[in-house]
Amino acid sequence: MSLITAPKGTADILPSDSYKWQYLEKKIRDISARYGFNEIRTPVFEHTEVFERGVGDTTDVVSKEMYTFQDKGGRSVTLRPEGTAGVVRSFIENGLFNEPMPAKLYYLINCFRYEKPQKGRLRQFSQYGIEMFGATSPAADAMVISLPYNIFRELGIKDIELKINSIGCRKCRADYRNALISYYEDKKDMLCPTCNERLYKNPMRILDCKSDICKSISVNAPKILDYLCSDCADHFNQLKELLDGMGIGYTVDPYIVRGLDYYNRTVFEFISSGIGAQGTVCGGGRYDGMTEQLGGASYPGIGFAMGLERIMLLLDCENIKKPVPDLYIASMGHRAQIESALIAQRLIRSGAAVEYDIMDRSLKAQMKYADKTGALCSMVLGDNELDTGIVTVKNMRTKEQRQVKIKDIDFQFITEMTKE
Ligand code: ATP
Ligand code: MG
Repeated sequence: MSLITAPKGTADILPSDSYKWQYLEKKIRDISARYGFNEIRTPVFEHTEVFERGVGDTTDVVSKEMYTFQDKGGRSVTLRPEGTAGVVRSFIENGLFNEPMPAKLYYLINCFRYEKPQKGRLRQFSQYGIEMFGATSPAADAMVISLPYNIFRELGIKDIELKINSIGCRKCRADYRNALISYYEDKKDMLCPTCNERLYKNPMRILDCKSDICKSISVNAPKILDYLCSDCADHFNQLKELLDGMGIGYTVDPYIVRGLDYYNRTVFEFISSGIGAQGTVCGGGRYDGMTEQLGGASYPGIGFAMGLERIMLLLDCENIKKPVPDLYIASMGHRAQIESALIAQRLIRSGAAVEYDIMDRSLKAQMKYADKTGALCSMVLGDNELDTGIVTVKNMRTKEQRQVKIKDIDFQFITEMTKE
């Protein structure tokens, strides 16, 4: 039979790497908890409308990249291309606004986008993100921005630049929109086909186009910061002041607009120079109109999403500990094999990581296996040990050996034997 391969743009995470992912995820959960964020888990698929309304149908994500299909009941459903829309849907549906505000939620999820796979760009990928509802103050924005900053800091990831911008509110954007349209209008035919099409629908997205020609046309485009109303300008100034106070470096980039339609005021991106074209490792912003867009009452919201495959490309994994057994029990003979299973049961139940032979291997082959697993300690159980009730436990690294009564081998003993 012919070989079946994984679908294009997906990747298996094998045991030789999964422990690195677990390290990253643990770190993320830990920092989220320190900030008072709690995990929310929403379905992998939603009614397609959730994304059409929550992400916006002029975005690339919705117009080109979604995995949408009819289920057997004839409903249109979509594998989530991002996390925010589903979380907002859930926030409204479950009345989370009745809990103490602000609502502070985080998610660690797989997302699905039909894209051209390349380094740092997959069709199934992983995102960590947070959403916070109920707070409008610049202090909320600064807190949210400080979170990924601290994640990178604690992961030891350097050379990441924070870019921030304000895209104002509906009021300031109306004037800006007109200014952009008149700027691009006479250059319309030089724009890439996508931008040409979105000139009247969503001209701000042209600023964020990756094509070289659009980028060069945009160099002299009007800047949103010149169009901010005084409330939005104040908000942005206070944000900058807070970031300065927190010691978080940033540059203001008036061309950061973010892909999603419902952003307002603060937008930001963390960009790495270390992974080539797909350099944006985290992007976010404020989206005060989103809950209404999905049929709820109005609540201010702010959040970000981080692409974990891109973080993995930057993570120095050398010092991440691979899980290894605390003890390998080698056995010789039938009696010893049974006894090794019993000892292992006792130790595993008490919290130790223990392996033993279930392959009927020779002693030599068992020790070779123990070595390959990286077991910290080993012991050999044979008739002699069973008769005397005493066994020698060896630390595989230091070669230190200790004689101990079999019945005295417990979690505490293992912990002492494996102490560095
Ligand atoms: P890009 O400009 O790289 O396409 P985006 O604006 O589409 O990114 P967002 O929707 O803001 O991305 O998603 C947040 C983060 O998720 C991105 O900054 C990136 O790190 C990651 N991400 C987005 N799409 C992919 C993908 N196809 N594969 C891997 N990571 C992705
Ligand atoms: Mg994209």
